[in-house]
Amino acid sequence: AAKAAGKSRHVVCTDELFAAHQSRRTLADELGRAIDRDELVLHYQPIVNLALDRIDGVEALVRWQHPERGLLGPGEFVHLAEETGTIDDLTRWVQRRAVQDAVLMSRLAGRQISVSVNVSPSSLVRGVLLDQVESGCTDDVQLILEVTETAVAEPAAVPVLEEFRRRGVRIALDDFGTGHSSLATLRLLPVDIIKLDRAFIEGIAVEQEASLLVRSVAELARALAKPLVVEGIEDAAQRAELERLGVALGQGYHLARPAPLDVVLEGLRQSAVEEAASLVPGR
Ligand code: C2E
Ligand code: MG
Ligand code: MG
Ligand code: MG
Repeated sequence: AAKAAGKSRHVVCTDELFAAHQSRRTLADELGRAIDRDELVLHYQPIVNLALDRIDGVEALVRWQHPERGLLGPGEFVHLAEETGTIDDLTRWVQRRAVQDAVLMSRLAGRQISVSVNVSPSSLVRGVLLDQVESGCTDDVQLILEVTETAVAEPAAVPVLEEFRRRGVRIALDDFGTGHSSLATLRLLPVDIIKLDRAFIEGIAVEQEASLLVRSVAELARALAKPLVVEGIEDAAQRAELERLGVALGQGYHLARPAPLDVVLEGLRQSAVEEAASLVPGR
């Protein structure tokens, strides 16, 4: 009986593997058609000036509104896009849509809102956005491309990044601290902005060592004259500690969760109204 049970477990296991493999293939096939079917969605997470309590820009984060599986996060499909070659189309789509939406945000806010777009290493090294991004900086919008340390370490990425910078695009080093670029090499990389990974923020309100580490990164960023954005601020204590350390820019659930365009526009509209009201004399 034990042998039979073992055998049937084995069969179940193989079936499950097969099913998982099939479903992966189906998902990859479906992803190829998702753009044409208008199933990709962008959510935007504000990047906040902590001292002014004001939205400086937004990061575009892709989602897939799958007809049967619901809303999928990038962790569930971006790697598939990379494996199947759909990634370049995805990168182009995200950049185009993000800039269109950011123009709406800037007009509503009455000031320039920057928009950050994540670019996969493979799309970056082949310069897929060079043919559709003529200028990264207009009256309405500042385009920022977020790239990872591993991508920047790729020699082929350097001339591409330099060309983007010539066109007024700013480059942000995403998830800083999780790759292997040292603090020393940071100076040499073609990047304008440093985004410190949220792993460094977790303990800052309770562990002195964690706080000291962030402080030294903040000092380094200041010394290099590169703005620092801290990711993953999840509570008021972390925010207070970061302000104490002189960190200017932050992003995280405590400040604002990623949200669809209409929600972000409504938030910007409200703060524009509040700002106007605070300027009324005699208030
Ligand atoms: P990322 O660029 O580091 O983006 C930040 C991620 O952290 C987002 O997850 C965001 O929702 C999440 N996050 C923000 N605040 C907090 C917080 O306070 N706590 C925690 N625990 N998480 C927070 P998301 O949207 O699932 O994206 C995951 C990753 O997928 C991104 O990491 C980025 O590497 C990639 N990604 C997103 N959109 C795109 C895209 O359009 N193209 C490419 N190539 N990659 C993308
Ligand atoms: Mg990012
Ligand atoms: Mg990040
Ligand atoms: Mg991250």
